[in-house]
Amino acid sequence: MRLRTNISLWVSLATVLPLTVLVLLVTGYSERQYSSDRDREIGASLNTLVAEIDRRLMFEREVISALVESAPMQAFQSVLSQARDGHKHPQFNLRAAQLGIFLEEFTALIPDVGTIRVLDVRGNTLLMIRDRQVMPTHYEGMDPYPYAEEELDDEAFLQRLRSSPLGEVSYQLLPESRSDYVFGAIPPMYDAVVPIEREGEGVVGYLLANSTGLQIERMLELAPRLSEGRLTVAELNPDRPDREGLILFDEGSGLLFTHGKRPELRLDTLFGTRVANTMATRPFGATDLTTRPSRVYHAEYTPYPNQLASWLVISEVRHDAVTAPFKRIRQGILLLAALALIASLLLAQVSARRIARPITRLAHNLKAYARGEPLERTEPHGTQEIRQLQDSFNYMAETLERARRDRDEAQHMLVQSAKLASIGEMAAGIGHELNNPLNNILSLGKLIRRELPAEHTRLREDVQSLMDEAQRASRIVNGILNFARQVPPRYEAIDVRPWAEETLILVNQAAKAQEVTIRLEVEEGLMMEGDVHQLRQVLINLLLNAIQASHPGDEVLIMARHEADGDIYFCVCDQGTGVDPDILDKLFDPFFTTKPVGRGSGLGLSVSLGIVERHGGHIDIRPNEHGGVTATVRLPARQVQGKREKGKGMGAEA
Ligand code: ADP
Repeated sequence: MRLRTNISLWVSLATVLPLTVLVLLVTGYSERQYSSDRDREIGASLNTLVAEIDRRLMFEREVISALVESAPMQAFQSVLSQARDGHKHPQFNLRAAQLGIFLEEFTALIPDVGTIRVLDVRGNTLLMIRDRQVMPTHYEGMDPYPYAEEELDDEAFLQRLRSSPLGEVSYQLLPESRSDYVFGAIPPMYDAVVPIEREGEGVVGYLLANSTGLQIERMLELAPRLSEGRLTVAELNPDRPDREGLILFDEGSGLLFTHGKRPELRLDTLFGTRVANTMATRPFGATDLTTRPSRVYHAEYTPYPNQLASWLVISEVRHDAVTAPFKRIRQGILLLAALALIASLLLAQVSARRIARPITRLAHNLKAYARGEPLERTEPHGTQEIRQLQDSFNYMAETLERARRDRDEAQHMLVQSAKLASIGEMAAGIGHELNNPLNNILSLGKLIRRELPAEHTRLREDVQSLMDEAQRASRIVNGILNFARQVPPRYEAIDVRPWAEETLILVNQAAKAQEVTIRLEVEEGLMMEGDVHQLRQVLINLLLNAIQASHPGDEVLIMARHEADGDIYFCVCDQGTGVDPDILDKLFDPFFTTKPVGRGSGLGLSVSLGIVERHGGHIDIRPNEHGGVTATVRLPARQVQGKREKGKGMGAEA
């Protein structure tokens, strides 16, 4: 796998995994937190509703118990007392009419109170107000009283009446014939009962009031709905199986509180048995429905102080209504997370490329270098470690390069030395052979000059030139012999300028013939140490080569100076034909020449090389910007002293 892919894969994994886990954890936690907040909120709103219903029922109870204390009611007590004894009160009609008017007005003011009945101790209804008016007499009893409802001989009912606690409002269900809900309809609420006591006589009758439930219905209708909640009120009644689970109010099926109840509409038919049982066994809580995607919240409330019956106030909320806001938040979080992911993946790509690029380039360079291509230096960039790596590579490559150069140079010198040694032997033989004829020429020259009369000036000069040339040839032969014998230099101090000028005289002839001018630029007072003859030989060789390569009218420059490190540097620079780069390596080979036969021996540069190297120096030939060649010689300054001592010793030996 490529490094870039590898890095971006790991960086991506390192960002994607934690980010995904984080997003899942955050959304999961927030969702749980959000739904538990919703549960709490809906539960609290149900409790508020229950508290309001409780306040309303309490108010009704207070009003009904106050009714018993009212003046018309007090006045009616004597009628009830007479009735208990089987007598008809002389002012029955008047008092009943007064109480009737009072109760009519009362029910007009408190519309919640539907029907009010005033019963004697035997349970007969002496007065009944319904729909805000006194009901006409319905039945003439055995007693002198006319009754508003049919007399009912129901001992159980009478028992319940008699057991009603004194001085407070209690609740019970009227027998069906006295109920306002007939024909099988089930009344929504129990009736309120207050025993009527007469001082000194005890209970003389009962005041019964049934609530229409109108106010409770309004409260339920107006109760704030959380998340489109649907309200339901059901009755739990362990005493009355016919009312157990009865639905008193249900928005879903349009059943209002004031309606007569439908026996088939029960808690379990609406919500399923499991949820109905759960709700029936816990006073409050929240349960998910299995039949619909909803959650039901319920709070239990006991409306009747003396009854076991209780109401379950239920709010059904659709899941999506609860989770809709959170879904939007989650979508937002997921979208942001996705954007963050894409951004981090892109960043991973970019950074992987940034990290991998220098390494890839380095690897490429290494391969290229291993294939033998020239070293391509890379500027260190990237992270610190990569920069160090690049630095190390550059250092290694440079060290190798240097080592290779040193090795090549050493090899070259070895070959050169071998060549010099082999030609040295040959040159020594030739030198010996040439030396004798040259000595003969010189001796004969001396004889001829001595014999020649003084007036033959011209001839004498020619003979002198002949002898000079023979002497030069002899010196060359000696030079060859020296070269062949590797004669160590005889060191002495050389004043460079006069030394160079003297040397120039020797090549003057050749320069003139080639129409070449020679310019000398020597640092003022420049001194060097070395073998004056050997070094002159070098300069002559370089100058002759330069002159021979020059075109007529060209200039040859000799420059000599001190280098900063004290080395002596001199060069011979011409504007001549130049040298083919392909043969640069061979120039110092013995007998290598490009000159026509008879003009060049191919020994000049190899002899010069031998001399310079024995001086511990360096000689080089390079093309220059004038199209010609610059031959440079560099002689070490510091070794001069040592070499001189050594040279002197050896010279003395020679
Ligand atoms: P020779 O001069 O006898 O040929 P050298 O050893 O002096 O022998 O020179 C070897 C070769 O180097 C020459 O034949 C020539 O090709 C080349 N050479 C040396 N100096 C120069 C120069 N200044 N310009 C051009 N070529 C040169």
